Amino acid sequence: MNFFSKTTDQDEWRKKYLNLLDEQEQSATSCKEKEDLLCKTIIRLTIATTGLDPLLDPHLLSIRDQLKNGINSRALKDELDRFTLSVTQIKHIPAQNQSVEIEPLFDFLLQRYTTEKQQRILKLLKKKARTAKLETPNQLFIAILEAIESDTDISAPKTISSQIDIEIVSRQLLLFLEGIEIPSIFNQQAQTAKQLLATPNQTTLAFESILDRSFKLLLKIKQHNQSEQQDIDKFLSHITEQLATLDASVMGASTAAIESAENRSRLDQSVSEQMKELQLSSTNATKLEPLKGIISSRLASIAKEIQEHTQKEAIQRQKTQQQLDGLIDKIKSMESESCDLKSKLKIANTQALRDTLTGLPNRNAYNERLETELARWKRYGTPLSLIIWDVDYFKTINDRYGHKAGDKVLLLIAKQLSDHSYTTDFISRFGGEEFTMLLPNTDSQSALERANQLRQVIEKTGFNASGTSVAITISCGITEFIPNDTDETAFERADQALYQAKQQGRNRCNVL
Ligand code: GH3
Ligand code: MG
Ligand code: MG
Repeated sequence: MNFFSKTTDQDEWRKKYLNLLDEQEQSATSCKEKEDLLCKTIIRLTIATTGLDPLLDPHLLSIRDQLKNGINSRALKDELDRFTLSVTQIKHIPAQNQSVEIEPLFDFLLQRYTTEKQQRILKLLKKKARTAKLETPNQLFIAILEAIESDTDISAPKTISSQIDIEIVSRQLLLFLEGIEIPSIFNQQAQTAKQLLATPNQTTLAFESILDRSFKLLLKIKQHNQSEQQDIDKFLSHITEQLATLDASVMGASTAAIESAENRSRLDQSVSEQMKELQLSSTNATKLEPLKGIISSRLASIAKEIQEHTQKEAIQRQKTQQQLDGLIDKIKSMESESCDLKSKLKIANTQALRDTLTGLPNRNAYNERLETELARWKRYGTPLSLIIWDVDYFKTINDRYGHKAGDKVLLLIAKQLSDHSYTTDFISRFGGEEFTMLLPNTDSQSALERANQLRQVIEKTGFNASGTSVAITISCGITEFIPNDTDETAFERADQALYQAKQQGRNRCNVL
C-alpha cells in the first residue's frame, strides 16, 4: 500500500514538473516573438526617422545594424546612451514641417542682402512662402536665388547680427542643397558645402563665408544647368538642320538617277522607232538611191539623238557628282562635330574626377584608381599601402582666420604632398580636410618612413594668415593591404590608425 502511494506521489510531482517545463517553454517562445516584433518595429522606426537630424543619423544606423545582427545588450545600451546624448544636443526640431523655419531664413536673408530691389523681392517672397504659395523647397530656393541675383550688389553682402539662429538657417540651406539635383562636376563642392553647413557651433564670421560659398555654388549650378540646356538645344537644332540638308541632297541624288533612267528609256524608244521606220522603208524600197538617202538621214537623226543623250547624261552626271560631293562634305563636317563633342565630354569627365579647390584627383578618382591598384596587387602580389591624412585642428584655423584662409591651407598642403611624392603614388583629396595616398610596391614600414618625411615637410612649411604665422600639422593612419582585405577593411584599419594618431597627440603617423 505504502509502495503504491509513494509511486502515485512521484507521478504527481513528475507531472507537475513537466507542466512547469511546458509553461516555461511557451513563455520563452512568446518572449522571443515579442522581442523579434520589437526589433522589427525599432528598425522601421530608425528607417523612418533617418534624415531628421544629421546628429542622430549615425546612431540610428548603428542601432539598426546592431538589431539586425542580434541583440548585444551592453553595446546596445552604450549606443542608446550616445543617442540620448545627441537628442539632448539638438537645439530645435521643427514641430511639423520645414515651413516653420522659413521665418529665420528670411530674417537672415533680409539682413544680408540689403539693396532696395533685393529687399523688395525678398519681402514679397517671404509673404508668399508664409501663405504657402510656393509649394516645394526647390521652387522657393530658386526664387530666393533670383532675388539675390536681382542686384549686382551680391558681391557686397552685409554682415549679419548675432541674433539670427545660425543652426536653423544652416539646416534650411542643407535641406535645399539635398533637395536639388547636382551635376556630377559639382559633387565634390556640394559635398563640402553640406559638410560645412552640418558642422555645429560655427562662429558668425565662419558662417558668413560658408553661406557665400553655398550661394555661389548654387548660382554656379543654376548657370551650369542653363548653359547645358542651351548647348543641348543649339546642338539639337544644328543636327536637325544638318539632317534636313542631307535629306535634300539624298532626294536630289535619287531624282537625278530617276531623270537619267527616264532619258535612257526615251532614247531607247526613239532609236527603236527610227529602226522600225528604216526597216519599213527598206522593205518597201524599189530603188537603191532613194533608199540610201533615207538610210543616211535616219542614221544622222539617230546619231544626233545619241549625241544629245550623251550630252544630257554628262550634265546629269556632273549634277549628281556635285550633289555627292556636297553630301560627303556634310558627312565630314558632322563627323568633326561629333569629334568635338566627344572631346568636350572627355573634358567634362576629367573635371568630374578632379577636386576644384586643390586640383588633385577627388574621391571618385580615388575609388577608380583603387580598383586598378587592388587588381594589380592581387595579380602580382607586390605590397600596396594606403595612407589617410587629416589636418590637425583644422576647424580652429577656419574659426580663427576664416574659411578663405582654411582653403589656402588646404591648397598649400595638397601642393606640398604632391611635390614631395613619387610619380607612382596616387594622392587624392578624399573630402573636407582629408587626403588619401595609395603607394604601390610599398610595404607598411617604407610607407611609415615616407609618411613621416611628408609630415615633417608640412610641419616646416607653416602658413601666414594676415601677417600672423600659423602652425600647420597633419596626422595620418597607414595600413598595408593583407590577404582577404577589401577596400573597406583596409580603409577602416587606416582610419583606426589615424584615430590613434590623433588620440596620441596629433602631428603623428601610425601604422595598423
Ligand atoms: P582634428 O585634429 O581632430 O582632425 O580636428 P579638426 O578641427 O581638424 O577636425 P574637425 O573634423 O572637427 O573639423 C574639420 C573641419 O574642416 C570642419 C569643416 O568646417 C572644415 N572643412 C571641411 N572642408 C573644408 C573646406 O573645403 N574648406 C574649409 N575652409 N574648411 C573645410
Ligand atoms: Mg577630418
Ligand atoms: Mg582634422
